[in-house]
Amino acid sequence: MFQDARTLADNAQLTADVCIIGSGPAGLTLCQELGGAGFRILLVESGGMDFDLERQSLLRGEDTTGEYFDPVGARRSQFGGTMTMWNMELTDNSMGARFVPLDAIDFETRDWVPYSGWPFSRAYLDPYYKQAEELCGLSSNTYEAAVWEDECNRCLQLPACEAITRIYKLRSAEPLLVAARKLINASTNIDCLFRATVTELVAGPSSNRIEYLRVLTSNRKQARIRARIFVLAAGGIENPRLLLLSNTVFSAGIGNARDLVGRFLMDHPLYYFCEWVPFQGQCVLGRLTLPEAVLRENRLLNLSGVLWPKPKGYRSKGIEALREMRLLARQKHLARSLALAPRACVNCGDILAYAWRRFRAPKRASLSFWSILPNTEKTFGSMEPEFYLEQPPDPSNRVSLSTELDSVGCRRTLVTWRWGQQSRDSAHRAGILLNKSFERARLGRLVPLRHPRVHTTGHHHLGTTRMHNSPAVGVVDPNCRVHETNNLFIAGSSVFCTGGYANPTLTIIALAIRLAEHLKKELQPLMVRQRD
Ligand SMILES: Cc1cc2nc3c(=O)[nH]c(=O)nc-3n(C[C@H](O)[C@H](O)[C@H](O)COP(=O)(O)OP(=O)(O)OC[C@H]3O[C@@H](n4cnc5c(N)ncnc54)[C@H](O)[C@@H]3O)c2cc1C
Repeated sequence: MFQDARTLADNAQLTADVCIIGSGPAGLTLCQELGGAGFRILLVESGGMDFDLERQSLLRGEDTTGEYFDPVGARRSQFGGTMTMWNMELTDNSMGARFVPLDAIDFETRDWVPYSGWPFSRAYLDPYYKQAEELCGLSSNTYEAAVWEDECNRCLQLPACEAITRIYKLRSAEPLLVAARKLINASTNIDCLFRATVTELVAGPSSNRIEYLRVLTSNRKQARIRARIFVLAAGGIENPRLLLLSNTVFSAGIGNARDLVGRFLMDHPLYYFCEWVPFQGQCVLGRLTLPEAVLRENRLLNLSGVLWPKPKGYRSKGIEALREMRLLARQKHLARSLALAPRACVNCGDILAYAWRRFRAPKRASLSFWSILPNTEKTFGSMEPEFYLEQPPDPSNRVSLSTELDSVGCRRTLVTWRWGQQSRDSAHRAGILLNKSFERARLGRLVPLRHPRVHTTGHHHLGTTRMHNSPAVGVVDPNCRVHETNNLFIAGSSVFCTGGYANPTLTIIALAIRLAEHLKKELQPLMVRQRD
């Protein structure tokens, strides 16, 4: 059942077999998978059942480099977590997300990617990916584009050994959310306590176990939660933050004896550096990737590019000036932004012409059917690939604690993130290979942009409690258990070792299913002993 934490008595003491912190895709998958096993599960969620600014403000953080996005805008504190803000417009006008697994190469140790290599392979994770797809209501067809081709939507005729067309599967959050609400309402052994913020995980004195959680409700009541097993599923930034905040017994925080918690923060920079100018009208396609053999041979990072048709004039001088002004204003460099106004005014003809073409162009959702729209050659000048880039793990990119306190008295997050020369160089080298392939196939040219740039990232917070066999290089072991803390596990993208280009939710869900399988094995003998 659901319980609003404001109705608890002050200093309430709650108990469970498994306590899960966070009700995003990771936490809800664990509930689904553990629900039928008879354990008493307590799901603790800081947000309410609906969006609420006061709860959301607890996620505010600072960015030290000015290169990252505002960490409050890219996460959601609410039942359902960040999936309640998915923004991919689907053809039925609902909002959803892109689902795609990591590639096999993403799991490998690559000598040109420092700290790369997962403790297991993609083939090992495949059965869990299959279950994750079922849970999300995704088609079981593959991600290769050939099976999805029809008369109107054809793959580009590129040699498969040079470039590959693949697809994303799209789906709304509804199947996950509806099933989770139904399960919690109907179940006698799963409780969801919302408006309850965990402020600290408290370990026993010099012990390798978490004894209890300190919780503060939104009406300032304190509570404690004891459980046999705790799972941190609070997202890629809050997972390390909570470990670092938990410093009553271990001054550096839980699991942080080697100063690894919060390090290796990765995201997917969305990089725009070239446009495809077709020699003649071509069919639309899902996305382009390079074959793994090409990535290996050229020692490249993984990447995937979606081709968005752009109205003519999209990269004209006036529009570029406006775009630059908006970016600087967003980064709060107002004086620098205003200094570009004369450039925009001089080129106002470009701007008006572009505005008119945009006004006449179809909306973004229907652009996926670009190839069957009328007047495409008149309306659209080129295709601009939106590349999701792999970012190599780098210990200096990190989540740490700021000195500023939030409204419940916890130190806020400090994010240090740069997207890095290796990703940039790798993308440009991949662009050269793709261009050769396009030219050879007589499909057009990839023309470099005057001002290549990363506008934003995918809002995927990866790697901050990374998985490794050795506690010297990882925060959690291959079972997602925090090294040297017997009853604390982590679910979510913070355990990723590397992140490829793939949007992370499908992998988060696959790993949560695998973690649930492990927890069942661990808990069942204890439950039997208790019954006897
Ligand atoms: C605009 C946008 C679009 C996206 N699109 C895609 C996409 O197309 N495909 C894709 O795969 N991914 C996408 N993502 C990313 C995806 O939503 C996240 O990776 C995913 O939701 C992470 O799941 P999670 O369960 O680990 O964490 P979250 O979904 O962030 O959930 C964490 C939950 O923990 C709660 N919590 C945090 N701290 C505490 C605490 N101290 N006490 C109690 N509760 C706490 C939070 O309130 C939240 O509800 C997108 C993200 C954004 C912002």
